[in-house]
Amino acid sequence: MSIPTPERWHGIPREEVPWYPIVDLQACIGCELCYVTCGRGVYDIRDRKAIVTQPYACMVGCTTCAMVCPTDAIRFADRDLVRRVEREHKILQVVKKEAKTKRSKQEAQKARATAEEALSRLTCRTRLEIAGAFGDKHFLLQLQELIADHPMDLVDLELHVPTAKGLAEKTPAFMRFDVVSTGQSDIQAFLPLLRDLARRNGFVLVNEVKL
Ligand code: SF4
Ligand code: SF4
Repeated sequence: MSIPTPERWHGIPREEVPWYPIVDLQACIGCELCYVTCGRGVYDIRDRKAIVTQPYACMVGCTTCAMVCPTDAIRFADRDLVRRVEREHKILQVVKKEAKTKRSKQEAQKARATAEEALSRLTCRTRLEIAGAFGDKHFLLQLQELIADHPMDLVDLELHVPTAKGLAEKTPAFMRFDVVSTGQSDIQAFLPLLRDLARRNGFVLVNEVKL
């Protein structure tokens, strides 16, 4: 697979930079190693010889194919020619700017990764499942009072009762709800208050899952 030929190299038109492989066809044994090694589609193999079909797709400064060629059939233009182009185009000034941009991009990526990692460590939503005799304990009311002073809410609340009459007669029922933060904050410190409230009402915490 080849990649598109870059149009410029640090601001210089790529075709003005004399960097590409030159194959000595006499020495080439057609092993195809250069063809397979180069990920830029610079080579093709014809009549069991390596042919440079896209010279300017070559990455300036790369010599990998020459390094692996078993017969030393690959060479590059004189490095002085490249250096002359670098001087003429004052490339170091361009590179300084590119380095600055690269550095700030890396720092921004690092900062984002750190923030995302910190966020992933937060528990912002947890599902609780509680069982017991809800009867006339007004547990929902107690829950509302508990969350009133916290940046929390309870969502997707479900109460499963086997029979309405049985509820008054202390038949066990089942409640499920998600505790969520209303401000992207950690709810871990709040969960013990909920567990404690459930325990004080004689309920059993059947399940607790961080979502
Ligand atoms: S690696 Fe060398 S010998 Fe093998 S095909 Fe390429 S140029 Fe020819
Ligand atoms: S020097 Fe690198 S980029 Fe250029 S042809 Fe060889 S392997 Fe491909």
